[in-house]
Amino acid sequence: MTGEHSPFLCNRLQEFGGASVFAEMSALAVRTGAINLGQGFPDTNGPPAVAEAAIEAIRGDFNQYPPGIGYPVLRRAVADHQKRFWGLEFDPDTEVLITAGATEAITAAILALCGPGDEVVTFEPYFDIYPADISMAGAERRLVQLRPPAYTFDPDELAAAFGPRTRVLVLNSPHNPTGKVFSVAELDTIARLCVEHDVIAITDEVYEHLVFDQNVHVPLAGRPQMADRTVTISSGGKTLSFTGWKIGWVCARGELVRAVQAAKQLLTYVSGGPFQPAVAVGLGLDDGFYTGLAADLQARRDLLCAGLSAAGFEPAVPQGTYYITADIRPLGASDGLEFCRALPEMCGVVAVPVQVLCDDKELGAPFVRFAACKRPEVLTEAVERLATLANR
Ligand code: PMP
Repeated sequence: MTGEHSPFLCNRLQEFGGASVFAEMSALAVRTGAINLGQGFPDTNGPPAVAEAAIEAIRGDFNQYPPGIGYPVLRRAVADHQKRFWGLEFDPDTEVLITAGATEAITAAILALCGPGDEVVTFEPYFDIYPADISMAGAERRLVQLRPPAYTFDPDELAAAFGPRTRVLVLNSPHNPTGKVFSVAELDTIARLCVEHDVIAITDEVYEHLVFDQNVHVPLAGRPQMADRTVTISSGGKTLSFTGWKIGWVCARGELVRAVQAAKQLLTYVSGGPFQPAVAVGLGLDDGFYTGLAADLQARRDLLCAGLSAAGFEPAVPQGTYYITADIRPLGASDGLEFCRALPEMCGVVAVPVQVLCDDKELGAPFVRFAACKRPEVLTEAVERLATLANR
Protein backbone atom coordinates (compact mmCIF):
# COMPACT_ATOMS: atom_id res chain seq x y z
CA MET A 1 0.00 0.00 0.00
CA THR A 2 1.09 3.57 -0.52
CA GLY A 3 -0.10 4.39 3.03
CA GLU A 4 -2.00 7.58 2.18
CA HIS A 5 -4.12 9.07 4.95
CA SER A 6 -7.81 8.17 4.93
CA PRO A 7 -9.98 10.25 7.32
CA PHE A 8 -12.54 7.57 8.19
CA LEU A 9 -10.23 4.62 8.62
CA CYS A 10 -9.59 3.34 12.15
CA ASN A 11 -6.07 3.58 13.60
CA ARG A 12 -5.38 -0.10 13.15
CA LEU A 13 -5.72 0.16 9.37
CA GLN A 14 -4.36 3.68 8.81
CA GLU A 15 -1.02 2.49 7.46
CA PHE A 16 -2.86 0.34 4.90
CA GLY A 17 -5.22 3.14 3.86
CA GLY A 18 -5.45 4.95 0.57
CA ALA A 19 -5.47 3.32 -2.82
CA SER A 20 -3.33 0.21 -3.13
CA VAL A 21 -0.46 0.66 -5.54
CA PHE A 22 -1.91 -2.22 -7.60
CA ALA A 23 -5.11 -0.22 -8.14
CA GLU A 24 -3.09 2.91 -8.88
CA MET A 25 -0.94 1.13 -11.46
CA SER A 26 -3.90 -0.67 -13.06
CA ALA A 27 -5.72 2.68 -13.42
CA LEU A 28 -2.55 4.10 -14.95
CA ALA A 29 -2.48 1.20 -17.43
CA VAL A 30 -6.08 1.95 -18.49
CA ARG A 31 -5.45 5.69 -18.76
CA THR A 32 -2.27 5.36 -20.84
CA GLY A 33 -3.11 2.21 -22.81
CA ALA A 34 -0.06 0.53 -21.30
CA ILE A 35 0.37 -3.24 -21.07
CA ASN A 36 -0.41 -4.20 -17.49
CA LEU A 37 2.31 -6.48 -16.14
CA GLY A 38 1.54 -5.19 -12.65
CA GLN A 39 -1.26 -7.38 -11.35
CA GLY A 40 -0.85 -11.16 -11.28
CA PHE A 41 -3.70 -12.71 -13.22
CA PRO A 42 -3.65 -14.70 -16.47
CA ASP A 43 -5.19 -13.15 -19.59
CA THR A 44 -6.68 -16.45 -20.78
CA ASN A 45 -9.24 -18.83 -19.27
CA GLY A 46 -8.36 -22.03 -17.46
CA PRO A 47 -9.18 -25.57 -18.66
CA PRO A 48 -12.51 -25.82 -20.58
CA ALA A 49 -13.49 -28.97 -18.65
CA VAL A 50 -13.33 -26.96 -15.42
CA ALA A 51 -15.39 -24.10 -16.89
CA GLU A 52 -17.96 -26.65 -18.16
CA ALA A 53 -18.17 -28.19 -14.69
CA ALA A 54 -19.03 -24.75 -13.23
CA ILE A 55 -21.76 -24.24 -15.88
CA GLU A 56 -23.14 -27.71 -15.11
CA ALA A 57 -23.12 -26.93 -11.39
CA ILE A 58 -25.06 -23.70 -11.96
CA ARG A 59 -27.62 -25.61 -14.03
CA GLY A 60 -27.75 -28.25 -11.32
CA ASP A 61 -27.90 -28.36 -7.58
CA PHE A 62 -25.07 -26.20 -6.26
CA ASN A 63 -26.72 -22.78 -6.05
CA GLN A 64 -27.67 -22.42 -2.38
CA TYR A 65 -25.42 -22.00 0.65
CA PRO A 66 -22.80 -24.75 0.64
CA PRO A 67 -22.05 -26.53 3.95
CA GLY A 68 -19.91 -24.37 6.28
CA ILE A 69 -16.80 -26.44 5.67
CA GLY A 70 -17.44 -26.73 1.92
CA TYR A 71 -19.00 -29.32 -0.38
CA PRO A 72 -17.80 -32.88 0.30
CA VAL A 73 -16.77 -33.36 -3.36
CA LEU A 74 -14.25 -30.52 -3.11
CA ARG A 75 -13.00 -31.44 0.37
CA ARG A 76 -12.31 -34.94 -0.92
CA ALA A 77 -10.57 -33.55 -4.04
CA VAL A 78 -8.38 -31.29 -1.88
CA ALA A 79 -7.40 -34.20 0.39
CA ASP A 80 -6.66 -36.39 -2.67
CA HIS A 81 -4.58 -33.58 -4.19
CA GLN A 82 -2.50 -33.16 -1.02
CA LYS A 83 -1.83 -36.92 -0.98
CA ARG A 84 -1.16 -37.22 -4.73
CA PHE A 85 1.30 -34.32 -5.06
CA TRP A 86 2.84 -33.92 -1.62
CA GLY A 87 2.20 -37.18 0.23
CA LEU A 88 0.26 -35.34 2.96
CA GLU A 89 -2.71 -37.07 4.60
CA PHE A 90 -5.81 -35.09 5.60
CA ASP A 91 -9.25 -36.34 6.57
CA PRO A 92 -11.66 -34.60 4.15
CA ASP A 93 -14.38 -34.43 6.80
CA THR A 94 -12.41 -32.91 9.67
CA GLU A 95 -9.10 -31.59 8.32
CA VAL A 96 -10.12 -29.61 5.21
CA LEU A 97 -12.00 -26.29 5.13
CA ILE A 98 -13.10 -24.52 1.93
CA THR A 99 -12.75 -20.71 1.93
CA ALA A 100 -13.31 -17.63 -0.25
CA GLY A 101 -9.89 -17.89 -1.87
CA ALA A 102 -6.58 -18.14 -0.08
CA THR A 103 -7.15 -14.53 0.97
CA GLU A 104 -9.98 -15.43 3.32
CA ALA A 105 -8.13 -18.52 4.53
CA ILE A 106 -5.08 -16.44 5.51
CA THR A 107 -7.19 -13.71 7.13
CA ALA A 108 -9.30 -16.21 9.06
CA ALA A 109 -6.22 -18.16 10.18
CA ILE A 110 -4.48 -15.05 11.47
CA LEU A 111 -7.62 -13.70 13.17
CA ALA A 112 -8.25 -17.11 14.73
CA LEU A 113 -4.74 -17.77 16.00
CA CYS A 114 -3.42 -14.45 17.26
CA GLY A 115 -4.55 -11.28 18.97
CA PRO A 116 -3.32 -8.24 20.90
CA GLY A 117 0.01 -8.89 22.60
CA ASP A 118 0.97 -11.64 20.17
CA GLU A 119 3.73 -11.46 17.58
CA VAL A 120 3.78 -12.93 14.10
CA VAL A 121 7.03 -13.69 12.29
CA THR A 122 7.08 -13.35 8.51
CA PHE A 123 9.42 -12.31 5.70
CA GLU A 124 9.81 -9.13 3.66
CA PRO A 125 9.15 -8.34 0.87
CA TYR A 126 5.69 -9.73 1.68
CA PHE A 127 2.35 -10.38 0.02
CA ASP A 128 0.57 -7.23 1.17
CA ILE A 129 -2.34 -8.79 3.04
CA TYR A 130 -0.11 -10.38 5.72
CA PRO A 131 0.79 -7.16 7.57
CA ALA A 132 -2.78 -5.89 7.19
CA ASP A 133 -4.24 -9.13 8.59
CA ILE A 134 -1.77 -9.08 11.48
CA SER A 135 -2.84 -5.51 12.28
CA MET A 136 -6.53 -6.42 12.00
CA ALA A 137 -5.89 -9.13 14.59
CA GLY A 138 -4.25 -6.50 16.83
CA ALA A 139 -0.98 -8.45 16.77
CA GLU A 140 2.50 -7.22 15.81
CA ARG A 141 4.71 -8.29 12.93
CA ARG A 142 8.37 -9.26 13.19
CA LEU A 143 9.92 -9.18 9.73
CA VAL A 144 12.91 -11.08 8.45
CA GLN A 145 14.49 -9.86 5.23
CA LEU A 146 14.83 -11.88 2.05
CA ARG A 147 17.87 -10.23 0.48
CA PRO A 148 18.26 -9.85 -3.28
CA PRO A 149 19.38 -11.12 -5.67
CA ALA A 150 19.05 -14.70 -4.31
CA TYR A 151 16.45 -13.70 -1.69
CA THR A 152 18.09 -15.74 1.04
CA PHE A 153 17.55 -14.99 4.74
CA ASP A 154 20.00 -15.01 7.62
CA PRO A 155 19.06 -17.90 9.98
CA ASP A 156 20.31 -15.88 12.98
CA GLU A 157 17.99 -13.02 12.04
CA LEU A 158 15.11 -15.47 11.82
CA ALA A 159 16.00 -16.96 15.21
CA ALA A 160 16.21 -13.45 16.71
CA ALA A 161 12.70 -12.65 15.42
CA PHE A 162 11.21 -15.39 17.62
CA GLY A 163 10.46 -14.53 21.25
CA PRO A 164 8.13 -15.37 24.14
CA ARG A 165 5.20 -13.58 22.46
CA THR A 166 5.56 -15.26 19.04
CA ARG A 167 2.37 -17.15 18.26
CA VAL A 168 2.45 -17.62 14.51
CA LEU A 169 4.87 -17.69 11.58
CA VAL A 170 3.54 -16.93 8.11
CA LEU A 171 5.43 -18.51 5.24
CA ASN A 172 4.74 -18.05 1.53
CA SER A 173 6.49 -20.51 -0.77
CA PRO A 174 6.71 -20.23 -3.74
CA HIS A 175 7.03 -16.58 -2.78
CA ASN A 176 5.31 -13.46 -4.09
CA PRO A 177 6.93 -11.09 -5.10
CA THR A 178 10.43 -12.62 -5.25
CA GLY A 179 9.69 -15.91 -7.06
CA LYS A 180 11.74 -17.72 -4.41
CA VAL A 181 11.02 -21.38 -3.66
CA PHE A 182 12.19 -22.11 -0.12
CA SER A 183 14.69 -24.99 0.01
CA VAL A 184 14.37 -28.02 2.29
CA ALA A 185 17.27 -26.72 4.41
CA GLU A 186 15.50 -23.36 4.81
CA LEU A 187 12.20 -25.06 5.63
CA ASP A 188 13.94 -27.15 8.27
CA THR A 189 15.46 -24.05 9.87
CA ILE A 190 11.97 -22.55 10.01
CA ALA A 191 10.47 -25.81 11.31
CA ARG A 192 13.07 -26.16 14.06
CA LEU A 193 12.31 -22.65 15.35
CA CYS A 194 8.54 -23.23 15.23
CA VAL A 195 8.94 -26.42 17.27
CA GLU A 196 11.41 -24.85 19.71
CA HIS A 197 9.10 -21.86 20.37
CA ASP A 198 5.83 -23.79 20.13
CA VAL A 199 4.65 -21.64 17.22
CA ILE A 200 1.94 -22.42 14.63
CA ALA A 201 2.98 -22.02 10.98
CA ILE A 202 0.53 -20.67 8.42
CA THR A 203 1.78 -21.50 4.93
CA ASP A 204 0.49 -19.83 1.79
CA GLU A 205 1.12 -22.21 -1.10
CA VAL A 206 -1.05 -20.72 -3.86
CA TYR A 207 1.84 -21.04 -6.37
CA GLU A 208 2.54 -24.68 -5.41
CA HIS A 209 2.31 -25.87 -9.05
CA LEU A 210 4.15 -22.94 -10.62
CA VAL A 211 7.74 -24.06 -10.05
CA PHE A 212 10.51 -24.06 -12.67
CA ASP A 213 13.75 -25.79 -13.67
CA GLN A 214 15.02 -28.30 -11.12
CA ASN A 215 13.25 -26.59 -8.21
CA VAL A 216 10.59 -28.47 -6.26
CA HIS A 217 7.86 -27.22 -3.97
CA VAL A 218 8.07 -28.80 -0.53
CA PRO A 219 5.22 -28.14 1.93
CA LEU A 220 6.30 -27.15 5.43
CA ALA A 221 3.60 -29.46 6.87
CA GLY A 222 5.63 -32.46 5.68
CA ARG A 223 8.80 -31.49 7.55
CA PRO A 224 9.63 -33.16 10.88
CA GLN A 225 7.18 -32.40 13.71
CA MET A 226 5.29 -29.86 11.60
CA ALA A 227 2.15 -31.86 10.69
CA ASP A 228 0.40 -30.94 13.95
CA ARG A 229 1.41 -27.27 13.96
CA THR A 230 0.96 -26.19 10.33
CA VAL A 231 -2.05 -24.60 8.67
CA THR A 232 -1.56 -25.23 4.94
CA ILE A 233 -3.41 -22.86 2.62
CA SER A 234 -3.86 -22.83 -1.13
CA SER A 235 -6.48 -22.05 -3.74
CA GLY A 236 -7.66 -22.91 -7.24
CA GLY A 237 -7.01 -19.41 -8.63
CA LYS A 238 -3.43 -19.76 -9.87
CA THR A 239 -3.37 -23.52 -10.44
CA LEU A 240 -6.50 -23.46 -12.61
CA SER A 241 -6.16 -19.93 -14.07
CA PHE A 242 -9.53 -18.84 -12.72
CA THR A 243 -8.37 -16.19 -10.25
CA GLY A 244 -11.83 -14.60 -10.05
CA TRP A 245 -13.52 -17.70 -8.70
CA LYS A 246 -11.96 -17.32 -5.26
CA ILE A 247 -12.10 -20.89 -4.06
CA GLY A 248 -9.42 -21.63 -1.49
CA TRP A 249 -8.79 -24.14 1.27
CA VAL A 250 -7.18 -24.82 4.60
CA CYS A 251 -5.65 -28.19 5.49
CA ALA A 252 -4.60 -28.82 9.09
CA ARG A 253 -5.27 -31.03 12.09
CA GLY A 254 -8.90 -30.95 13.26
CA GLU A 255 -8.48 -28.57 16.21
CA LEU A 256 -6.67 -26.03 14.01
CA VAL A 257 -9.27 -26.30 11.24
CA ARG A 258 -12.06 -25.76 13.78
CA ALA A 259 -10.29 -22.64 15.07
CA VAL A 260 -9.88 -21.21 11.56
CA GLN A 261 -13.50 -22.07 10.73
CA ALA A 262 -14.67 -20.16 13.81
CA ALA A 263 -13.23 -16.98 12.27
CA LYS A 264 -14.06 -17.87 8.66
CA GLN A 265 -17.77 -18.34 9.36
CA LEU A 266 -17.92 -14.74 10.64
CA LEU A 267 -16.26 -13.36 7.49
CA THR A 268 -18.14 -14.84 4.53
CA TYR A 269 -19.76 -17.86 6.24
CA VAL A 270 -19.65 -19.68 2.86
CA SER A 271 -19.03 -18.73 -0.76
CA GLY A 272 -18.69 -19.77 -4.38
CA GLY A 273 -21.23 -22.66 -4.40
CA PRO A 274 -21.06 -23.79 -8.05
CA PHE A 275 -17.34 -23.11 -8.37
CA GLN A 276 -16.57 -25.63 -5.64
CA PRO A 277 -17.41 -28.80 -7.63
CA ALA A 278 -15.73 -27.25 -10.69
CA VAL A 279 -12.47 -26.73 -8.77
CA ALA A 280 -12.79 -30.37 -7.65
CA VAL A 281 -12.73 -31.35 -11.35
CA GLY A 282 -9.62 -29.21 -11.83
CA LEU A 283 -7.80 -30.81 -8.91
CA GLY A 284 -8.47 -34.19 -10.52
CA LEU A 285 -6.91 -33.29 -13.91
CA ASP A 286 -4.08 -35.57 -15.02
CA ASP A 287 -0.39 -34.94 -14.37
CA GLY A 288 0.08 -33.65 -17.93
CA PHE A 289 -2.06 -30.63 -17.12
CA TYR A 290 0.08 -29.75 -14.12
CA THR A 291 3.47 -30.24 -15.81
CA GLY A 292 2.20 -28.36 -18.89
CA LEU A 293 1.12 -25.44 -16.72
CA ALA A 294 4.59 -25.03 -15.19
CA ALA A 295 6.43 -25.57 -18.51
CA ASP A 296 4.22 -23.02 -20.24
CA LEU A 297 4.81 -20.40 -17.55
CA GLN A 298 8.54 -21.16 -17.50
CA ALA A 299 8.72 -20.33 -21.23
CA ARG A 300 6.96 -17.02 -20.53
CA ARG A 301 9.34 -16.32 -17.66
CA ASP A 302 12.28 -16.90 -20.01
CA LEU A 303 10.80 -14.63 -22.66
CA LEU A 304 10.24 -11.80 -20.20
CA CYS A 305 13.58 -12.26 -18.37
CA ALA A 306 15.47 -12.11 -21.67
CA GLY A 307 13.52 -9.00 -22.68
CA LEU A 308 14.18 -7.31 -19.33
CA SER A 309 17.92 -8.02 -19.62
CA ALA A 310 17.98 -6.69 -23.19
CA ALA A 311 16.20 -3.53 -22.01
CA GLY A 312 18.92 -2.92 -19.41
CA PHE A 313 17.26 -4.28 -16.25
CA GLU A 314 18.90 -6.89 -14.07
CA PRO A 315 16.16 -9.48 -13.48
CA ALA A 316 16.42 -12.03 -10.66
CA VAL A 317 15.40 -15.24 -12.46
CA PRO A 318 12.52 -16.61 -10.36
CA GLN A 319 12.33 -20.26 -9.25
CA GLY A 320 8.53 -20.16 -9.34
CA THR A 321 5.34 -18.00 -9.36
CA TYR A 322 4.02 -15.47 -11.87
CA TYR A 323 6.58 -12.81 -10.96
CA ILE A 324 9.98 -11.48 -11.92
CA THR A 325 11.69 -8.82 -9.81
CA ALA A 326 14.16 -6.65 -11.68
CA ASP A 327 16.85 -4.25 -10.50
CA ILE A 328 16.39 -0.80 -12.06
CA ARG A 329 19.78 0.59 -11.06
CA PRO A 330 21.52 -0.38 -14.34
CA LEU A 331 18.96 1.93 -16.00
CA GLY A 332 20.13 4.82 -13.83
CA ALA A 333 17.05 4.72 -11.56
CA SER A 334 16.90 3.95 -7.85
CA ASP A 335 13.33 4.59 -6.66
CA GLY A 336 10.95 1.89 -7.87
CA LEU A 337 7.79 3.82 -6.98
CA GLU A 338 8.85 6.83 -9.01
CA PHE A 339 10.04 4.56 -11.79
CA CYS A 340 6.73 2.64 -11.96
CA ARG A 341 4.74 5.88 -12.00
CA ALA A 342 6.80 7.04 -15.00
CA LEU A 343 7.13 3.71 -16.86
CA PRO A 344 3.74 3.79 -18.69
CA GLU A 345 4.56 7.21 -20.17
CA MET A 346 8.14 6.18 -20.92
CA CYS A 347 7.37 2.97 -22.76
CA GLY A 348 3.76 1.78 -22.31
CA VAL A 349 4.29 -0.96 -19.72
CA VAL A 350 3.07 -1.18 -16.12
CA ALA A 351 5.01 -2.84 -13.28
CA VAL A 352 4.73 -2.58 -9.48
CA PRO A 353 7.37 -1.26 -7.08
CA VAL A 354 8.68 -3.82 -4.60
CA GLN A 355 9.12 -1.17 -1.89
CA VAL A 356 5.35 -1.09 -1.25
CA LEU A 357 5.71 -4.73 -0.23
CA CYS A 358 8.38 -3.95 2.38
CA ASP A 359 8.50 -2.14 5.73
CA ASP A 360 12.16 -1.36 5.01
CA LYS A 361 11.72 0.84 1.93
CA GLU A 362 15.46 0.69 1.20
CA LEU A 363 15.29 -3.07 0.80
CA GLY A 364 12.73 -2.85 -2.00
CA ALA A 365 13.46 0.59 -3.49
CA PRO A 366 15.59 -0.42 -6.51
CA PHE A 367 13.34 -3.32 -7.56
CA VAL A 368 10.16 -3.56 -9.59
CA ARG A 369 7.94 -6.57 -10.16
CA PHE A 370 6.67 -7.75 -13.54
CA ALA A 371 4.04 -10.50 -14.01
CA ALA A 372 4.86 -13.11 -16.67
CA CYS A 373 1.41 -14.76 -16.68
CA LYS A 374 0.25 -13.10 -19.91
CA ARG A 375 -0.12 -14.47 -23.47
CA PRO A 376 3.22 -14.78 -25.30
CA GLU A 377 2.16 -12.18 -27.90
CA VAL A 378 1.40 -9.71 -25.09
CA LEU A 379 4.78 -10.39 -23.47
CA THR A 380 6.52 -10.01 -26.85
CA GLU A 381 4.86 -6.64 -27.37
CA ALA A 382 5.82 -5.61 -23.80
CA VAL A 383 9.42 -6.66 -24.41
CA GLU A 384 9.54 -4.59 -27.61
CA ARG A 385 8.23 -1.57 -25.71
CA LEU A 386 10.70 -2.10 -22.85
CA ALA A 387 13.57 -2.31 -25.37
CA THR A 388 13.03 1.38 -26.16
CA LEU A 389 14.26 2.16 -22.61
CA ALA A 390 17.76 1.04 -23.60
CA ASN A 391 17.84 3.81 -26.26
CA ARG A 392 16.86 6.63 -23.96
N1 PMP B 1 -1.32 -15.50 -1.59
C1 PMP B 1 -0.44 -15.00 -2.48
C2 PMP B 1 1.01 -15.11 -2.21
C3 PMP B 1 -0.90 -14.38 -3.65
O1 PMP B 1 -0.03 -13.88 -4.52
C4 PMP B 1 -2.30 -14.30 -3.87
C5 PMP B 1 -2.87 -13.66 -5.11
N2 PMP B 1 -2.16 -12.63 -5.67
C6 PMP B 1 -3.17 -14.83 -2.92
C7 PMP B 1 -2.65 -15.41 -1.79
C8 PMP B 1 -4.64 -14.70 -3.07
O2 PMP B 1 -5.21 -15.91 -3.46
P1 PMP B 1 -6.78 -15.99 -3.75
O3 PMP B 1 -7.04 -15.29 -5.03
O4 PMP B 1 -7.03 -17.46 -3.81
O5 PMP B 1 -7.48 -15.34 -2.62
